[in-house]
Amino acid sequence: MRAYDLILKKRNGGELSVEEIDFLVKGYTEGSIPDYQMAAFLMAVYFRGMSDREAVDLTEAMVRSGDRCDLGSIPGIKVDKHSTGGVGDKTTLIVAPLAAAAGVPVAKMSGRGLGHTGGTVDKLESIPGFRTTLTLDEMAKQVRETGVAVVAQTGNLTPADKKLYALRDVTATVDSIPLIASSVMSKKLASGADAVVLDVKAGSGAFMKTVQGAVDLARAMVAVGERRGLHTVALVTGMDEPLGTAVGNALEVREAIDVLAGGGPEDLRELCVNLASYMVVLGRKAPTPADARRLCEELLSGGCALAKFREWISTQGGDPAVIEDGSLLPRAAREVPVPSAASGFVESIDAETVGKAASLLGAGRLTKESSIDPAVGVTVIKKVGMRVEEGEPLGILHVNDPAGLDEAMTALQKAYRFGQEPPPRRRLIIAVVTRDGVDGHPPLST
Ligand code: URA
Repeated sequence: MRAYDLILKKRNGGELSVEEIDFLVKGYTEGSIPDYQMAAFLMAVYFRGMSDREAVDLTEAMVRSGDRCDLGSIPGIKVDKHSTGGVGDKTTLIVAPLAAAAGVPVAKMSGRGLGHTGGTVDKLESIPGFRTTLTLDEMAKQVRETGVAVVAQTGNLTPADKKLYALRDVTATVDSIPLIASSVMSKKLASGADAVVLDVKAGSGAFMKTVQGAVDLARAMVAVGERRGLHTVALVTGMDEPLGTAVGNALEVREAIDVLAGGGPEDLRELCVNLASYMVVLGRKAPTPADARRLCEELLSGGCALAKFREWISTQGGDPAVIEDGSLLPRAAREVPVPSAASGFVESIDAETVGKAASLLGAGRLTKESSIDPAVGVTVIKKVGMRVEEGEPLGILHVNDPAGLDEAMTALQKAYRFGQEPPPRRRLIIAVVTRDGVDGHPPLST
């Protein structure tokens, strides 16, 4: 086989066989296929797409490129959760203990953030003492005993995806549905869970800017998961403003505690209850999403979810006193309000730009090697639909190093769009995609 012929075949709209896909993935991972040929292949996929069968074969080839976690020593149906990424998305911190409190074992690997803000691992590490580098045996033991563990992705999981993702990042081939679906699902399959709930974001702060794109991506991921025996449900959810109010690592931990204590911002709470409910259904701890929802609401209002969070922090080496005393979390030296330059109703808040503001203050990494400041970030005061008068604060910047302050302030102001009327209320949960199809009759264009 020659890489040239396979690039040509895909460029001309052909369908590659399992052997051909394997040849490309293996050759690229081992170094016998150079970057320039793989880049050409990825661009051909970007324009020509892949059949469901090809996407499954690509996923499997990437899983085979590395190790696979064996969670077999943990009893019960292990349910994972994945978000396609959003600004202010601290849902894992909430749904992992919530689902665990319902009796669903959660053994999850998470990443560090690159770009807008930190990832889940960075958020957890802002809790003093919290250890995210457990071995697989330690992780399994913790899940058997506590019901939940979230650790930094370790070992040699899907090395092909790591290499391919880095190449996609610099060749404008990230936002291809089969490539995203196979990249995400290869990691989910290698992580060893029995089922997964996906949160596929649509909107300004997401990979998929339109609802149709997000539904198509959700369908592709569900198809890959189900064909490989990983029971998969995807929620398509709106990302037209940051989720909740906190953007920045320790700030997001504080907000997660608020939700687990039965309060917190409405949008964040609603999304978490939905995600956890589907995890509970997949984990067979409730027969229907409505039953699971009731259970999750009870676990939140009765304090069981918060108690599980405390236990989780403690078993992973963190200081559980942060739950009562938020001042034990890193706190920035200054809080600077950002005045609105206009009056009106908030129509939209470009989530990516808010993430950029937080990043300018040090909440996100500019390169893989750079360090982050866990204390800094943005609190969004004015959310979509609220009335704002000129000069009123839109949000607060939490600042340690003043170097990025002016730029961050301008970015936050620029993120806001105002109108003279209250905007129509948008749905947060737009659709639910399962192996049986799409439910929720989403408006299929935005
Ligand atoms: N996240 C991933 O892990 N892979 C993609 O391709 C896109 C987002």
